[in-house]
Amino acid sequence: MTGDLLPQRPLLCRIPLLPGESLWSYLTRLAAANGYDSLSLLTRLCHQRLAPLHLHPRHLLEPQHAATFAVLAALGGLTPRELANASVHYFARAPLWAERGSSSLSLADGAPLPLLDARLRSKYLWREHEVRFCPECLQQAAYHRLAWTLKEVGGCLEHRRLLRDRCPNCAAQVSVQDVVRGQCRKCRADLAAAMPDDVLTPFDVFAQQTIRSWWGLAGPAPTDMDGSLPDQPAPILHQLFELVQDAIRAATAVGPTVLDRYNVQLQAFKALADWPTGFGNFLRGRLEQQVRIWSYYSGCDFSGPVHLRDDSPFGFWICGLQDRPGFGFVQEAVDRFLVANNIRVESGCRRTRLLIEADAELQRIARPLAEKGLERMARVLESMGEDDPESDGAVAGD
Ligand SMILES: [Zn+2]
Ligand SMILES: [Zn+2]
Repeated sequence: MTGDLLPQRPLLCRIPLLPGESLWSYLTRLAAANGYDSLSLLTRLCHQRLAPLHLHPRHLLEPQHAATFAVLAALGGLTPRELANASVHYFARAPLWAERGSSSLSLADGAPLPLLDARLRSKYLWREHEVRFCPECLQQAAYHRLAWTLKEVGGCLEHRRLLRDRCPNCAAQVSVQDVVRGQCRKCRADLAAAMPDDVLTPFDVFAQQTIRSWWGLAGPAPTDMDGSLPDQPAPILHQLFELVQDAIRAATAVGPTVLDRYNVQLQAFKALADWPTGFGNFLRGRLEQQVRIWSYYSGCDFSGPVHLRDDSPFGFWICGLQDRPGFGFVQEAVDRFLVANNIRVESGCRRTRLLIEADAELQRIARPLAEKGLERMARVLESMGEDDPESDGAVAGD
Protein backbone atom coordinates (compact mmCIF):
# COMPACT_ATOMS: atom_id res chain seq x y z
CA MET A 1 0.00 0.00 0.00
CA THR A 2 1.44 3.36 -0.95
CA GLY A 3 1.47 6.52 1.09
CA ASP A 4 -0.75 8.43 -1.30
CA LEU A 5 -3.59 6.01 -0.52
CA LEU A 6 -3.73 7.16 3.08
CA PRO A 7 -7.30 8.09 3.85
CA GLN A 8 -6.68 11.63 5.04
CA ARG A 9 -6.60 12.37 1.32
CA PRO A 10 -9.74 11.79 -0.64
CA LEU A 11 -9.90 8.87 -3.02
CA LEU A 12 -9.12 9.72 -6.61
CA CYS A 13 -12.65 9.18 -7.77
CA ARG A 14 -15.40 10.74 -5.66
CA ILE A 15 -19.08 10.13 -6.20
CA PRO A 16 -22.21 11.87 -4.94
CA LEU A 17 -24.57 10.28 -2.47
CA LEU A 18 -27.73 9.49 -4.46
CA PRO A 19 -31.28 10.38 -3.28
CA GLY A 20 -32.27 8.16 -0.35
CA GLU A 21 -29.11 6.08 -0.72
CA SER A 22 -27.85 3.94 2.17
CA LEU A 23 -24.31 4.26 3.50
CA TRP A 24 -23.76 0.59 2.62
CA SER A 25 -24.60 1.36 -0.98
CA TYR A 26 -22.54 4.54 -1.14
CA LEU A 27 -19.40 2.85 0.22
CA THR A 28 -19.83 -0.09 -2.14
CA ARG A 29 -20.13 2.27 -5.09
CA LEU A 30 -17.23 4.39 -3.86
CA ALA A 31 -15.00 1.32 -3.70
CA ALA A 32 -16.12 0.22 -7.17
CA ALA A 33 -15.63 3.70 -8.66
CA ASN A 34 -12.02 3.55 -7.49
CA GLY A 35 -11.42 0.17 -9.05
CA TYR A 36 -11.89 -2.03 -5.96
CA ASP A 37 -14.31 -4.83 -6.54
CA SER A 38 -15.15 -5.13 -2.87
CA LEU A 39 -15.21 -3.08 0.28
CA SER A 40 -12.17 -4.87 1.68
CA LEU A 41 -9.62 -2.44 0.25
CA LEU A 42 -11.60 0.50 1.53
CA THR A 43 -11.62 -1.27 4.87
CA ARG A 44 -7.84 -1.61 4.79
CA LEU A 45 -7.43 2.06 3.97
CA CYS A 46 -9.62 3.03 6.89
CA HIS A 47 -7.90 0.58 9.17
CA GLN A 48 -4.66 2.55 8.91
CA ARG A 49 -6.44 5.51 10.42
CA LEU A 50 -8.75 3.69 12.77
CA ALA A 51 -6.33 1.18 14.28
CA PRO A 52 -4.50 3.79 16.44
CA LEU A 53 -7.92 4.80 17.80
CA HIS A 54 -8.64 1.11 18.59
CA LEU A 55 -11.67 1.19 16.31
CA HIS A 56 -12.35 -1.88 14.30
CA PRO A 57 -12.82 -1.41 10.53
CA ARG A 58 -15.65 -3.91 10.77
CA HIS A 59 -17.78 -0.94 11.85
CA LEU A 60 -17.34 0.81 8.54
CA LEU A 61 -20.83 0.00 7.35
CA GLU A 62 -22.46 0.97 10.62
CA PRO A 63 -20.09 3.41 12.30
CA GLN A 64 -20.30 3.72 16.07
CA HIS A 65 -17.67 6.44 16.49
CA ALA A 66 -17.25 9.99 15.22
CA ALA A 67 -13.76 9.05 14.04
CA THR A 68 -15.14 6.45 11.64
CA PHE A 69 -17.47 9.01 10.09
CA ALA A 70 -14.56 11.48 9.85
CA VAL A 71 -12.32 8.95 8.11
CA LEU A 72 -15.03 7.91 5.66
CA ALA A 73 -15.95 11.53 4.97
CA ALA A 74 -12.32 12.37 4.23
CA LEU A 75 -12.08 9.42 1.84
CA GLY A 76 -15.13 10.25 -0.20
CA GLY A 77 -15.20 14.04 0.11
CA LEU A 78 -18.61 14.18 1.83
CA THR A 79 -19.39 15.55 5.29
CA PRO A 80 -19.73 13.21 8.27
CA ARG A 81 -23.33 14.46 8.64
CA GLU A 82 -24.25 13.42 5.10
CA LEU A 83 -22.86 9.96 5.80
CA ALA A 84 -24.61 9.76 9.17
CA ASN A 85 -27.94 10.59 7.52
CA ALA A 86 -27.42 7.69 5.12
CA SER A 87 -26.49 5.28 7.91
CA VAL A 88 -28.77 3.07 10.01
CA HIS A 89 -28.49 5.67 12.79
CA TYR A 90 -30.89 7.81 10.80
CA PHE A 91 -33.65 5.66 12.29
CA ALA A 92 -32.66 6.46 15.88
CA ARG A 93 -34.42 9.83 15.41
CA ALA A 94 -37.66 8.31 14.08
CA PRO A 95 -40.91 9.67 15.59
CA LEU A 96 -41.52 6.11 16.62
CA TRP A 97 -38.72 6.33 19.23
CA ALA A 98 -39.64 9.84 20.37
CA GLU A 99 -40.05 8.68 23.96
CA ARG A 100 -36.95 6.56 24.02
CA GLY A 101 -33.54 7.93 24.97
CA SER A 102 -30.51 6.79 23.03
CA SER A 103 -26.79 7.29 23.31
CA SER A 104 -25.28 9.69 20.84
CA LEU A 105 -21.95 10.89 19.56
CA SER A 106 -20.81 14.31 18.50
CA LEU A 107 -20.01 14.75 14.82
CA ALA A 108 -17.56 17.25 13.34
CA ASP A 109 -20.37 19.80 12.88
CA GLY A 110 -20.81 19.86 16.66
CA ALA A 111 -24.36 18.51 16.63
CA PRO A 112 -25.16 15.19 18.28
CA LEU A 113 -25.90 12.03 16.32
CA PRO A 114 -28.24 9.68 18.22
CA LEU A 115 -27.16 6.06 17.72
CA LEU A 116 -29.55 3.25 16.93
CA ASP A 117 -29.05 0.69 19.67
CA ALA A 118 -28.10 -2.85 18.81
CA ARG A 119 -31.38 -4.41 19.92
CA LEU A 120 -33.51 -2.13 17.72
CA ARG A 121 -31.04 -2.58 14.92
CA SER A 122 -31.31 -6.35 14.87
CA LYS A 123 -35.07 -6.40 15.40
CA TYR A 124 -36.12 -3.89 12.74
CA LEU A 125 -33.40 -3.75 10.11
CA TRP A 126 -32.11 -6.19 7.55
CA ARG A 127 -28.41 -6.97 7.31
CA GLU A 128 -26.38 -5.91 4.29
CA HIS A 129 -26.25 -9.46 2.93
CA GLU A 130 -30.04 -9.98 2.96
CA VAL A 131 -31.56 -6.82 1.55
CA ARG A 132 -34.82 -5.99 -0.25
CA PHE A 133 -35.08 -4.09 -3.50
CA CYS A 134 -37.54 -2.69 -6.02
CA PRO A 135 -36.67 -3.92 -9.52
CA GLU A 136 -38.15 -0.82 -11.13
CA CYS A 137 -36.08 1.46 -8.90
CA LEU A 138 -33.01 -0.52 -10.01
CA GLN A 139 -33.99 0.05 -13.64
CA GLN A 140 -33.83 3.79 -12.92
CA ALA A 141 -30.59 3.65 -10.95
CA ALA A 142 -28.79 0.66 -9.46
CA TYR A 143 -28.18 1.54 -5.84
CA HIS A 144 -29.55 0.52 -2.46
CA ARG A 145 -32.08 2.80 -0.76
CA LEU A 146 -31.95 3.35 3.00
CA ALA A 147 -35.73 2.75 3.26
CA TRP A 148 -35.23 -0.84 2.04
CA THR A 149 -33.20 -1.50 5.18
CA LEU A 150 -36.37 -1.49 7.29
CA LYS A 151 -38.12 -4.80 7.81
CA GLU A 152 -41.43 -2.94 8.07
CA VAL A 153 -41.09 -1.35 4.64
CA GLY A 154 -42.60 -3.89 2.27
CA GLY A 155 -43.34 -1.87 -0.84
CA CYS A 156 -42.07 0.84 -3.17
CA LEU A 157 -44.31 3.89 -3.11
CA GLU A 158 -42.99 5.24 -6.39
CA HIS A 159 -43.70 2.10 -8.39
CA ARG A 160 -46.43 0.70 -6.17
CA ARG A 161 -44.88 -2.75 -6.06
CA LEU A 162 -43.80 -5.14 -3.33
CA LEU A 163 -40.09 -5.21 -2.65
CA ARG A 164 -38.27 -8.40 -3.64
CA ASP A 165 -35.64 -10.22 -1.61
CA ARG A 166 -34.45 -12.92 -4.02
CA CYS A 167 -32.79 -13.31 -7.36
CA PRO A 168 -35.56 -13.82 -9.96
CA ASN A 169 -33.57 -16.63 -11.55
CA CYS A 170 -31.89 -18.71 -8.82
CA ALA A 171 -33.73 -17.38 -5.73
CA ALA A 172 -30.45 -16.58 -3.96
CA GLN A 173 -30.49 -13.97 -1.22
CA VAL A 174 -29.48 -10.55 -2.44
CA SER A 175 -26.76 -8.39 -0.88
CA VAL A 176 -26.14 -4.65 -1.13
CA GLN A 177 -23.30 -5.42 -3.49
CA ASP A 178 -25.67 -7.36 -5.77
CA VAL A 179 -28.14 -4.45 -5.74
CA VAL A 180 -25.40 -1.96 -6.63
CA ARG A 181 -24.27 -4.20 -9.48
CA GLY A 182 -27.88 -4.85 -10.43
CA GLN A 183 -26.89 -8.48 -10.75
CA CYS A 184 -27.12 -11.72 -8.76
CA ARG A 185 -23.60 -12.74 -7.71
CA LYS A 186 -24.44 -16.42 -8.10
CA CYS A 187 -26.09 -16.64 -11.50
CA ARG A 188 -25.55 -13.11 -12.84
CA ALA A 189 -29.25 -12.64 -13.50
CA ASP A 190 -30.44 -9.08 -13.90
CA LEU A 191 -32.15 -8.05 -10.63
CA ALA A 192 -34.03 -5.26 -12.38
CA ALA A 193 -35.79 -7.97 -14.38
CA ALA A 194 -37.46 -9.39 -11.26
CA MET A 195 -40.79 -7.91 -12.27
CA PRO A 196 -43.39 -8.57 -9.62
CA ASP A 197 -47.00 -8.86 -10.70
CA ASP A 198 -48.35 -7.57 -7.41
CA VAL A 199 -49.54 -3.98 -7.42
CA LEU A 200 -50.09 -2.01 -4.24
CA THR A 201 -53.69 -0.90 -3.70
CA PRO A 202 -54.44 2.61 -2.38
CA PHE A 203 -54.82 1.07 1.07
CA ASP A 204 -51.40 -0.64 0.78
CA VAL A 205 -49.91 2.71 -0.17
CA PHE A 206 -51.60 4.37 2.81
CA ALA A 207 -50.14 1.68 5.10
CA GLN A 208 -46.67 1.98 3.60
CA GLN A 209 -46.75 5.77 3.81
CA THR A 210 -47.81 5.65 7.44
CA ILE A 211 -45.11 3.13 8.36
CA ARG A 212 -42.52 5.31 6.62
CA SER A 213 -43.71 8.34 8.56
CA TRP A 214 -43.30 6.43 11.86
CA TRP A 215 -39.70 5.79 10.84
CA GLY A 216 -39.06 9.39 9.84
CA LEU A 217 -38.81 8.62 6.13
CA ALA A 218 -41.83 10.65 5.06
CA GLY A 219 -44.42 13.07 6.35
CA PRO A 220 -47.72 11.72 7.65
CA ALA A 221 -49.94 9.97 5.11
CA PRO A 222 -52.74 12.19 3.73
CA THR A 223 -55.58 12.34 6.26
CA ASP A 224 -58.31 12.37 3.60
CA MET A 225 -57.49 8.72 2.93
CA ASP A 226 -60.23 6.24 3.85
CA GLY A 227 -59.29 4.22 6.85
CA SER A 228 -58.09 6.93 9.19
CA LEU A 229 -55.98 5.88 12.17
CA PRO A 230 -56.70 6.81 15.78
CA ASP A 231 -55.30 10.23 16.57
CA GLN A 232 -52.42 8.93 18.67
CA PRO A 233 -48.66 9.44 18.70
CA ALA A 234 -46.44 7.25 16.55
CA PRO A 235 -44.85 5.30 19.45
CA ILE A 236 -48.28 4.18 20.71
CA LEU A 237 -49.61 3.28 17.25
CA HIS A 238 -46.47 1.32 16.53
CA GLN A 239 -46.72 -0.62 19.80
CA LEU A 240 -50.27 -1.61 18.93
CA PHE A 241 -49.21 -2.48 15.36
CA GLU A 242 -46.57 -4.82 16.75
CA LEU A 243 -48.87 -6.45 19.31
CA VAL A 244 -51.38 -7.19 16.56
CA GLN A 245 -48.67 -8.63 14.33
CA ASP A 246 -47.45 -10.87 17.16
CA ALA A 247 -51.00 -12.13 17.70
CA ILE A 248 -51.44 -12.90 14.00
CA ARG A 249 -48.14 -14.75 13.87
CA ALA A 250 -48.97 -16.73 17.02
CA ALA A 251 -52.32 -17.77 15.57
CA THR A 252 -51.31 -18.70 12.03
CA ALA A 253 -48.34 -20.41 10.46
CA VAL A 254 -46.74 -17.58 8.50
CA GLY A 255 -44.67 -18.61 5.49
CA PRO A 256 -41.18 -17.32 4.79
CA THR A 257 -41.74 -15.29 1.64
CA VAL A 258 -41.76 -11.54 1.23
CA LEU A 259 -45.46 -11.74 0.47
CA ASP A 260 -46.21 -13.76 3.64
CA ARG A 261 -44.43 -11.22 5.75
CA TYR A 262 -46.09 -8.35 3.97
CA ASN A 263 -49.55 -9.84 4.43
CA VAL A 264 -49.12 -10.07 8.20
CA GLN A 265 -48.14 -6.41 8.31
CA LEU A 266 -51.05 -5.43 6.13
CA GLN A 267 -53.53 -7.40 8.26
CA ALA A 268 -52.10 -5.77 11.37
CA PHE A 269 -52.38 -2.35 9.81
CA LYS A 270 -56.04 -3.03 9.03
CA ALA A 271 -56.63 -3.42 12.77
CA LEU A 272 -55.46 0.18 13.25
CA ALA A 273 -57.26 1.66 10.27
CA ASP A 274 -60.84 2.89 10.19
CA TRP A 275 -60.64 3.09 13.97
CA PRO A 276 -62.33 1.51 15.87
CA THR A 277 -64.09 -0.61 13.22
CA GLY A 278 -60.87 -2.25 11.97
CA PHE A 279 -59.83 -3.08 15.50
CA GLY A 280 -63.29 -4.49 16.25
CA ASN A 281 -62.94 -6.78 13.20
CA PHE A 282 -59.53 -7.88 14.44
CA LEU A 283 -60.93 -8.69 17.92
CA ARG A 284 -63.80 -10.57 16.35
CA GLY A 285 -61.27 -12.67 14.43
CA ARG A 286 -59.45 -13.44 17.72
CA LEU A 287 -62.77 -14.35 19.36
CA GLU A 288 -63.77 -16.68 16.54
CA GLN A 289 -60.42 -18.37 16.72
CA GLN A 290 -60.73 -18.82 20.47
CA VAL A 291 -64.20 -20.32 19.98
CA ARG A 292 -62.78 -22.77 17.40
CA ILE A 293 -60.05 -23.91 19.75
CA TRP A 294 -62.28 -24.11 22.77
CA SER A 295 -65.12 -26.00 21.05
CA TYR A 296 -62.72 -28.59 19.62
CA TYR A 297 -60.76 -29.19 22.80
CA SER A 298 -63.67 -29.07 25.25
CA GLY A 299 -66.52 -30.36 23.05
CA CYS A 300 -68.48 -27.22 24.00
CA ASP A 301 -70.87 -25.99 21.29
CA PHE A 302 -71.43 -22.53 22.80
CA SER A 303 -75.19 -22.94 22.82
CA GLY A 304 -75.22 -21.54 26.38
CA PRO A 305 -73.02 -18.98 28.20
CA VAL A 306 -69.37 -20.06 28.42
CA HIS A 307 -66.67 -18.90 30.78
CA LEU A 308 -63.21 -18.31 29.38
CA ARG A 309 -60.15 -17.56 31.45
CA ASP A 310 -58.53 -14.20 30.88
CA ASP A 311 -55.12 -15.76 30.20
CA SER A 312 -56.30 -17.14 26.86
CA PRO A 313 -54.87 -15.48 23.74
CA PHE A 314 -58.24 -13.79 23.27
CA GLY A 315 -58.36 -12.73 26.92
CA PHE A 316 -55.10 -10.88 26.47
CA TRP A 317 -56.85 -8.39 24.19
CA ILE A 318 -59.72 -7.94 26.62
CA CYS A 319 -57.86 -7.80 29.93
CA GLY A 320 -54.15 -7.49 29.17
CA LEU A 321 -53.91 -3.91 27.95
CA GLN A 322 -55.89 -2.11 30.63
CA ASP A 323 -52.93 -0.66 32.48
CA ARG A 324 -50.69 -0.05 29.52
CA PRO A 325 -49.71 3.65 29.39
CA GLY A 326 -51.29 5.50 26.48
CA PHE A 327 -53.67 2.63 25.64
CA GLY A 328 -56.87 4.24 26.99
CA PHE A 329 -58.21 4.58 23.45
CA VAL A 330 -57.66 0.84 22.92
CA GLN A 331 -59.60 0.06 26.08
CA GLU A 332 -62.49 2.21 24.82
CA ALA A 333 -62.54 0.19 21.60
CA VAL A 334 -62.39 -3.05 23.62
CA ASP A 335 -65.36 -1.93 25.75
CA ARG A 336 -67.40 -1.23 22.63
CA PHE A 337 -66.48 -4.65 21.29
CA LEU A 338 -67.55 -6.37 24.53
CA VAL A 339 -70.99 -4.79 24.39
CA ALA A 340 -71.44 -5.59 20.69
CA ASN A 341 -70.48 -9.24 21.25
CA ASN A 342 -72.31 -10.06 24.50
CA ILE A 343 -69.16 -10.58 26.51
CA ARG A 344 -68.95 -9.77 30.20
CA VAL A 345 -65.73 -9.43 32.14
CA GLU A 346 -66.25 -10.95 35.59
CA SER A 347 -63.65 -10.15 38.21
CA GLY A 348 -63.65 -12.66 41.02
CA CYS A 349 -61.47 -12.72 44.12
CA ARG A 350 -59.03 -15.09 42.43
CA ARG A 351 -59.16 -14.33 38.78
CA THR A 352 -60.94 -12.58 35.98
CA ARG A 353 -63.13 -14.59 33.65
CA LEU A 354 -64.90 -13.75 30.43
CA LEU A 355 -68.53 -14.78 30.13
CA ILE A 356 -69.37 -15.26 26.48
CA GLU A 357 -72.92 -15.54 25.22
CA ALA A 358 -72.21 -16.65 21.70
CA ASP A 359 -74.27 -15.22 18.85
CA ALA A 360 -75.67 -17.39 16.03
CA GLU A 361 -72.52 -17.03 13.92
CA LEU A 362 -70.21 -18.16 16.75
CA GLN A 363 -72.51 -21.11 17.46
CA ARG A 364 -72.44 -22.07 13.79
CA ILE A 365 -68.62 -22.06 13.98
CA ALA A 366 -68.56 -24.01 17.24
CA ARG A 367 -71.09 -26.78 16.54
CA PRO A 368 -69.22 -28.99 14.02
CA LEU A 369 -65.96 -28.51 15.89
CA ALA A 370 -67.58 -29.48 19.19
CA GLU A 371 -68.86 -32.67 17.54
CA LYS A 372 -65.39 -33.46 16.23
CA GLY A 373 -63.97 -32.69 19.65
CA LEU A 374 -66.36 -35.11 21.34
CA GLU A 375 -65.49 -37.82 18.79
CA ARG A 376 -61.83 -37.18 19.45
CA MET A 377 -62.34 -37.47 23.20
CA ALA A 378 -64.30 -40.71 22.77
CA ARG A 379 -61.45 -42.17 20.70
CA VAL A 380 -58.93 -41.16 23.33
CA LEU A 381 -60.99 -42.79 26.08
CA GLU A 382 -61.42 -45.92 23.97
CA SER A 383 -57.71 -46.21 23.31
CA MET A 384 -56.99 -45.74 26.99
CA GLY A 385 -59.34 -48.63 27.69
CA GLU A 386 -57.56 -50.85 25.14
CA ASP A 387 -54.17 -50.02 26.63
CA ASP A 388 -55.25 -50.97 30.11
CA PRO A 389 -56.05 -54.71 30.49
CA GLU A 390 -57.27 -54.14 34.07
CA SER A 391 -60.14 -51.97 32.86
CA ASP A 392 -61.39 -54.73 30.51
CA GLY A 393 -61.43 -57.10 33.46
CA ALA A 394 -63.29 -54.57 35.59
CA VAL A 395 -66.02 -54.10 32.98
CA ALA A 396 -66.37 -57.88 32.58
CA GLY A 397 -66.55 -58.28 36.34
CA ASP A 398 -69.48 -55.88 36.56
ZN1 LIG B 1 -39.46 1.35 -7.00
ZN1 LIG C 1 -29.31 -15.71 -9.17
